Amino acid sequence: MNSALLVILCLISLSACAIQEGIQGGDPRITGLHHDLKVRLEPASQQLAAEDVVTLNAQGTISFALGGQFTVTRLSLDGKDLPVKPSEESKGISTWRLELDGPASHHTLWLSYHGQLQPLDTRLDHREVLGFIPAMADTQGSYLPASGYQPSWYPRFDTDAFTYSVSLDLPAEQRGLVPGRLVKEDLQQGRYQARFEFKQPAEGIDLLAGPYQIKEIMHDGLRLRTYFHPEIAALADDYLNSISAYLDRYKKTIGPYPFSEFSIVSSPLPTGFGMPTLTYLGISVLRLPFIRTTSLGHEILHNWWGNGVYIDLIHGNWAEGLTTFMADYAYKEQEGPDDARAMRLQWLRDFAAIPPGQDQPLSRFAFRSHNTSEIVGYHKSAYIFLMLRDRIGKPAFDRALRNFWKEKQFQTASWKDLQRAFETSSGENLDIFFEQWIVRAGAPQLNAVYLKAEPKPGGAYLASFTLTQSAPAYALRVPVTLKTQTGTVERLVELNETEQPYTLELDAQPLTLSIDPDLRLFRRITDAEMPPLLRQVMTDPATITVVAGRDAALHKTAAELAGKLLDNTPRITDDSTALPSGQLLVIGTHDETAAFLQKHHLPAVPQQLAGDVQGRATAKGSTNVAGGRTPGATKGSARVWAARQKNGKIVVVVSAANTEALQALIRPLPHYGKESYLVFENSKVIERGVWPAEGKVWNFPAADK
Ligand SMILES: [Zn+2]
Repeated sequence: MNSALLVILCLISLSACAIQEGIQGGDPRITGLHHDLKVRLEPASQQLAAEDVVTLNAQGTISFALGGQFTVTRLSLDGKDLPVKPSEESKGISTWRLELDGPASHHTLWLSYHGQLQPLDTRLDHREVLGFIPAMADTQGSYLPASGYQPSWYPRFDTDAFTYSVSLDLPAEQRGLVPGRLVKEDLQQGRYQARFEFKQPAEGIDLLAGPYQIKEIMHDGLRLRTYFHPEIAALADDYLNSISAYLDRYKKTIGPYPFSEFSIVSSPLPTGFGMPTLTYLGISVLRLPFIRTTSLGHEILHNWWGNGVYIDLIHGNWAEGLTTFMADYAYKEQEGPDDARAMRLQWLRDFAAIPPGQDQPLSRFAFRSHNTSEIVGYHKSAYIFLMLRDRIGKPAFDRALRNFWKEKQFQTASWKDLQRAFETSSGENLDIFFEQWIVRAGAPQLNAVYLKAEPKPGGAYLASFTLTQSAPAYALRVPVTLKTQTGTVERLVELNETEQPYTLELDAQPLTLSIDPDLRLFRRITDAEMPPLLRQVMTDPATITVVAGRDAALHKTAAELAGKLLDNTPRITDDSTALPSGQLLVIGTHDETAAFLQKHHLPAVPQQLAGDVQGRATAKGSTNVAGGRTPGATKGSARVWAARQKNGKIVVVVSAANTEALQALIRPLPHYGKESYLVFENSKVIERGVWPAEGKVWNFPAADK
């Protein structure tokens, strides 16, 4: 499975606006806001013309904002024309301020505006798509995001939530939609027209259009659709079946689906957005065979968590973790315990790759902006639900979620609300559990000391050991496994201090101790449990980038690659200085990186990736290798690997045949932080993987006889 592409997905629709407004809390003077929008879009010329009838209850001064590219041609309040010139224009946003007379009452604002959208920029990579993108139009696809305080394509007011109706008017060969219930659609006078209503509290309006072929089925009273580009229209049936299955699954586990429809909409951009009633996925993503069995379920589940119960962003986004736990992780559990464990191990490895102190507590996670935030906001968060289920049991866990759904639908909820739901269903006080996992950053690191085996008369043994953890101590139920001369003993021990002794009575002589070998606890795993990964270097702000070689074009490309690869601004040096002592990123040609590694006694290219690189390194200066290369000796045009330095830090080497081969890595490589090594043929990955890691065991010293 292509994990890089999965990273693209699993992003809830949270538009910047929702976040901004969540924090701002909205203008208390406005309530009951409703937009009735008529939108005419010409994707070929990027022209948008709209009329909006806004009704609201308010008093005093209110304001609304619109993208600076739009010209308002008429504006009226309660039937009285107002000046169309904005009160303020700044940073591409026009703002109008209106004075309302008298006490709070019902008002109607009417405005007509038009303007030019940006052309579609298909060069955007997925990281850029995750950030703010402007409203774009093209016959191949138009995306007008619910953009919050960024320039907006519809008038935005200071309010937490609103309702809307949108009538779309598009050229006959185009189809379009906004989240909500389709009220009617037809083709009239060479135009496609459709009207949508959204009656739940909405946080923004996303508008999507394209040369779509629509396929529809009704399932369980719900209208399910695909809006697919012609080149992937054949995939529609399979996707519609998958939607039905997911809706059934989550209805059964959580409660009824809260909307009247669900659509999958294809995008020319590498998007992976979940919005209420729809998901907007890149064409290239939809073509991947595993999307139906993985990311689609995640996006559908966001209609319950995130778009059904809203996220309280001030106190932390709980919805990504819960969705990841009930979708991505649950599908792995379904495949079997080994698959689920492999996912847990990957999550723990990713977390361990974050230098201590660099992660934020979950209470501060709002939405994904970089690798570290994904590791905490998605994976650590999912782990917390796993530990919670282990602790209170599946029946109480499921009951809590059903009640939470019933009580909080279309309301904002926080971690506190979830805590209350789990406490009610389990009868347990979970203050300590939630405090240590949500409010605190980091994770415990566990160790065992003072192992001792004492023979007892009759062949029995007393095994004693002390578990330690980093301070301040977490309250944990730690699974321990002891291998004895005759078998395996598993126990669950309570660990509440930084150091706590245990004595167990065993039938046979204990040989080894493992702490949490099945990885049920979210913890900082040890080096022995973790192979070197690219990510360890990518996320460390102290990483030093070394460019091996003198070629100016190569230096420029290497700097660009480092900029894309690292979470922080690269600190670049050349290979002439002394070797820095931290995590390293070494970039260069095969010859130059090999020479650099040799000179600094760093681990050479691993056997598995070796090919003729070894030969080149030892025969430095001899360039005849390219002419007389041995068949099958060189794998790919570039290879990348992580290795452990003698000081325990990681070095990541990016070794390419030439500058062009290096250039080809700029786009794909940042997606592969979870790997230990990769081989590329130009921009295509032909080999990748994670170095094996041994689990950590502690030995009992031989007992005195
Ligand atoms: Zn998500």
